Amino acid sequence: MLKQLVNEAEFDIRIISQTPMLINGGALEHDVKMSPVRTRRSDREEAYIPGSSAKGVLRSHAERCARTLSGTQPEPGACDPFDTGSCSNRLKSVKSTADSYARACPICKLFGCLSLQSRLLVSDFYAEQPADMANLERRDGVGINRVTGGSSNSALFNLEVAVGGKYSGTIRIRNFEMWQLGLVAFVLRDLKSGGLTFGMAKSRGLGQTTAELRSASIRIYLPGAPEGTIVGLAALGPDFAPYKFSDDPREREGIAADVPSSDDGYGLGSHFIYSDQAAVESLLRSVAPIWPAYIRSREAERS
Ligand SMILES: [Zn+2]
Repeated sequence: MLKQLVNEAEFDIRIISQTPMLINGGALEHDVKMSPVRTRRSDREEAYIPGSSAKGVLRSHAERCARTLSGTQPEPGACDPFDTGSCSNRLKSVKSTADSYARACPICKLFGCLSLQSRLLVSDFYAEQPADMANLERRDGVGINRVTGGSSNSALFNLEVAVGGKYSGTIRIRNFEMWQLGLVAFVLRDLKSGGLTFGMAKSRGLGQTTAELRSASIRIYLPGAPEGTIVGLAALGPDFAPYKFSDDPREREGIAADVPSSDDGYGLGSHFIYSDQAAVESLLRSVAPIWPAYIRSREAERS
C-alpha cells in the first residue's frame, strides 16, 4: 500500500471473560484433549488471547456488519473468503496495489487479503495483573454417537478452559479512510456490549466476553491537514485517484476532533488523545455514521 504514513488510530482495550474460554493451544497432558493457548511470563504459565485469534473474531464480526447493510451479495459489502469470488481469488492477477485496493471489498480493504496488506494490527491480549489472570480448569466432555444419539463410551474427553480473566491489548489502524474508522466503531461497540465470542465451543456458551474501551489515540501526519480535524486518506489529493478512495466529503475535509490536539514537541502533525471510556465512546459515535453512508454510496454506484 502507501509508502507514507498518513494517519494512525490506536485503541487500548480490555477484554473481560464472562464465560470460560477455550482458544485451543493443543493438549499438554495425555488425558486432556484440548487446552487453552498459553504463554510463560514471570515464571508461570497463563492463558492469553493471541492477536491472530482476536483479529479473526473482529473480521468475522465486521463481515456480519457489512452483510447487515448490504445483504448476502458479495458486493458492495463483504466477499466470502472461501468462495471463488473472494477478493484473494479475484485480484490475484492484478499487478498494481492501487488497482487491487480499488477493487477489493470493504472488509478486505481493511483486514487485507492475499493481494493486500492489512491496515488493522491487533496485538496479543495478556492479563495485566496476577489478579486478572484466568484460572485453568478441567471440564469433562462426552462424545455423542451419531447413530443412536446417546453418549459414546469410547469418546469421553477432557477439556481445559480458561475461567475468568481480563486481557489487555491494542487495536491499531494505519492509513485509514474515515469509513474504516466508522466500521471499527461498530465492531468495538459490539465487542464492548458482549456481542463477540472467542475460541471454541461457542454453541456450548464458551467464550462470551465484554470489553472496556479504555483510551484511544489518533495521529494525523499529513502536512497541511486542517487543524483540529481527523482526516482520511482521500486528503492526500488527486495524485492518489487510482486507489478510488471514498468521495464522502468527511474523508477529505475531516471531522472535528472533540478533544484538543496535543503537541508532542516534534512539530509534525496532530495528536488527539481520548483518555477515558466516555471520550472514546464520543469519538466512535462521531465516526460511526460514515460507515453505512459508504456502503450506501457503493450501492448507488452499482445501480
Ligand atoms: Zn474481500
